[in-house]
Formats: sequence, C-alpha cells, structure tokens
Amino acid sequence: MRIGFIGVGAMGKPMAQNLIKAAHDVYIYDINQAVVAELASRGGLTAATPKEAASRAEIVITMLPNAAIVEDTMTADNGILAGGNPGLTIVDMSSVAPRTSLKMAALAKQRGFQYADAPVSGGVAGADAGTLTIMVGAEPDTFRQIEPVLQILGKKIYHVGPVGSGDAIKVVNNLLLGVHMAAAAEALVLGAKAGLNPEVMLEIIKESSGRSYALEAKAANFIFKGNFTPGFAIDLQYKDLELAVETGKNLGVPLPVGNLAQQIFEMSRAKGLGREDISAVIKVWEELTGVQVRTG
Ligand code: NAD
Repeated sequence: MRIGFIGVGAMGKPMAQNLIKAAHDVYIYDINQAVVAELASRGGLTAATPKEAASRAEIVITMLPNAAIVEDTMTADNGILAGGNPGLTIVDMSSVAPRTSLKMAALAKQRGFQYADAPVSGGVAGADAGTLTIMVGAEPDTFRQIEPVLQILGKKIYHVGPVGSGDAIKVVNNLLLGVHMAAAAEALVLGAKAGLNPEVMLEIIKESSGRSYALEAKAANFIFKGNFTPGFAIDLQYKDLELAVETGKNLGVPLPVGNLAQQIFEMSRAKGLGREDISAVIKVWEELTGVQVRTG
C-alpha cells in the first residue's frame, strides 16, 4: 500500500520504520530534513510537502506534536487536504482534543476523504516494538480499511466509536497518567524524607493498593537512577492535561484534580524541565525538601 507519513519524531520515526519493514511504500514528510534523509536511507520515500505525500498515498498518517500543527498540516496551501486524491483516508495518530478531529473530519468529508483519529499509548518503546495500544474513532468502513495498517504499529487496536472517540479515551487515559505521576512523585519524596529505602518502598507499594503504572514504569527505571531522558516529555504530558482541562470545560465537567496536576507540571516547566521525562516532576519536590529519591 502507498502510505504518507507526516511527523517522524520520537514516535513517528519508529512507526514509519515498521511500515517500511512491512514492505509498504511510505512517503515521508517532516520539517526536520535530517530524519527524513535517515528514513530514506532505510527504504523510505520522501515527499517535499504534506500535499505531495497525500497526492501519492491511499492512506496518510500524521504523528505531530499538537492540534495547531495538525490543523496547519491539513489545511495549508501545501497541506494534505489540498493534495489528496478522491477516496484518500487520513489517520491522525497525534494526541489532540476530540473537537480538533471532528473539525478536521468535517473538512476532509467536504473533499471526499475519510478521516480517523487514532491516538496511541505505549511510548517510544511500544512504537519501536510495534506493540502500541491504538484507540480509533472512525466510521466502521474506515476502520476496516485502516485496521491492517494499524496492526503493524500496535498490538491492541480498539475501534472506540465515531470520529473523536479515540481522542476522548486518550484524553481520559492521559489525565490519569498525569495525576498518577504527580501523586507518585510527592509520595516517593514523602517516603524518602521519612527515611524509607526507595527500593523497599517500591516493592511494597507494587504489592499494595497504592500501585500505579506511573510508579511501576517510572520509579526504578527513571527516578531511582536519576535518568530523566524521555520517554514521555513533561511538555507533552502538560499538553495532554491541557486537552483534558479544555475538554472538561467544553463539556461542563469540573476536573479539580486534573487542573492541580497540570499546575504541578507547570511548576516543573518553570524550572526548565519541560523536555525531560514526566518522572522529572519529582525534582520540584526534591528541591523543596532537600531529599533525593535515588539508589546507588
Ligand atoms: P516529537 O516532538 O518527538 O515529534 C514530532 C515530529 O513532528 C518532529 O519530528 C517534528 O520535526 C515534526 N513536526 C513538527 N512540526 C511539523 C510540521 N509543521 N510539519 C511536519 N512535521 C512537523 O513528538 P512525539 O513524542 O513523536 O509525539 C508525537 C505525538 O504523539 C504527540 O501528539 C504526542 O502527544 C503523542 N504521543 C507521544 C508519546 C511519547 O511517548 N512520546 C506517547 C503517546 C502519544
């Protein structure tokens, strides 16, 4: 199949590589020319603009940082909507708000294109291994068309409902991740200040009711080692909390815990930690209390 792939960063690059390995013709566009050249040297094809990628493809996948960039990539003069042939299917796998996908899907429909939102969970490791969890909002026919391609990228593919519903569940999931990470950070600092050994704390919490993915994924591998290379960057988690807050406002749902978690990540951004892994949020509490939760 001919696939356009736009946005080959931490996530998009390994995803595009997996499509190339599966013998698809992948037309790649990114503003970062170096990564496009690297993928071209491994069997990828290049496109000079999103419009060109769309004009060559049956399916165009986008994996971009945020909604503003997704909208621009779709609607600009050199964008996807300007270049697609009739019957094109656009699959946005970026994390954006449901209303962004609803707006883009309506524009796509006017041009005779199908549209799906298909955000992912599983991080760079999951993108690399082709084991992402993918949450799809699409018409049933569109889902059937894109499912074989998504199966190359992920292990669990869910058709959640119509356009926007993939984004909705992703927003809910990442609201929980942000809240759990912020809570894990302050809890670990409390334990360290009380004199507990970090490894003992983790071992016991993992078998107790305070356990969470944030703690299990981020304590031993990141915090205890003092390794804060993303992973999943604080700036992206902050954006995902913004998506939750924005969606809550649109729907009239108060999210006091989510808003507070966003402010905690704002504190870490103010400290210049935006590009570090989400586990680096612990540095805010470590600095305030004068303890570090490290082993070795
Ligand atoms: P990233 O910043 O590493 O990559 C984004 C890529 O988009 C970069 O290569 C950048 O050059 C490119 N780009 C930016 N503006 C562009 C434009 N106008 N046209 C073309 N390319 C452009 O981000 P990422 O970590 O790969 O995340 C991508 C999306 O996936 C985000 O929406 C993020 O929230 C989501 N996500 C990330 C993770 C993760 O663990 N990193 C996990 C799940 C979901």
